[in-house]
Amino acid sequence: MNKQKSLAQQIIDCAIEMSDSGLSPGRSGNVSARFGEGFLITPSGLAYGDLSIDDIVYIDEQGVPAGAKPEPSSEWRFHHDIYQTYKGAGGIVHCHSRHATALACCNTEIPAFHYMVAVAGGRKIPIAPYALFGTQQLSDYVVKALNGYRASLLEHHGLVAHRASVRDALDLAHEVEELAAQYVLVRSLGGDKVLDDAQMEDVIERFKTYGKRASP
Ligand SMILES: [Zn+2]
Repeated sequence: MNKQKSLAQQIIDCAIEMSDSGLSPGRSGNVSARFGEGFLITPSGLAYGDLSIDDIVYIDEQGVPAGAKPEPSSEWRFHHDIYQTYKGAGGIVHCHSRHATALACCNTEIPAFHYMVAVAGGRKIPIAPYALFGTQQLSDYVVKALNGYRASLLEHHGLVAHRASVRDALDLAHEVEELAAQYVLVRSLGGDKVLDDAQMEDVIERFKTYGKRASP
């Protein structure tokens, strides 16, 4: 199997896992991986379980889909712009997972209520302002929100996560959803204490020495 086909299979595997784990209700969400100068992304409107590697769409660095394949996900623009802006991004997962979306619908970013928030790259998990799905405006907001972060909520929409690989991006999306669920519980219990900047800087430093991430 050549590299493109192998990457397409990884995208399908991650999309099915994303769906089966409940991260993306219905046919919401999309998964992509950097490939060459562009990227490979799940198509629009097809059930993940029905996908074959030939259904995965290649989009070049100009944002042009190749060949007569299915239409790419309607959110291909922010995938494209994330890859163009953040060179460390090798894979992206976007989903409408329950708790992250609930917070996003309250326009609530996730503060440093727990040190693991640093898994997204900083002292919080930010939120991008609302814009209509599939638009350049949404993409612009997402790229701006991700400055310094590997994950962000999308107001009235869901979440997006990027890492070096599509598998790592899916793991990060799971972690963000779990943190969102914990934060919803903390808020429901009346908790509002957060770690201060110095405490979070210590965590971020420690994470660097743990390599990819720490789970102590
Ligand atoms: Zn979406």
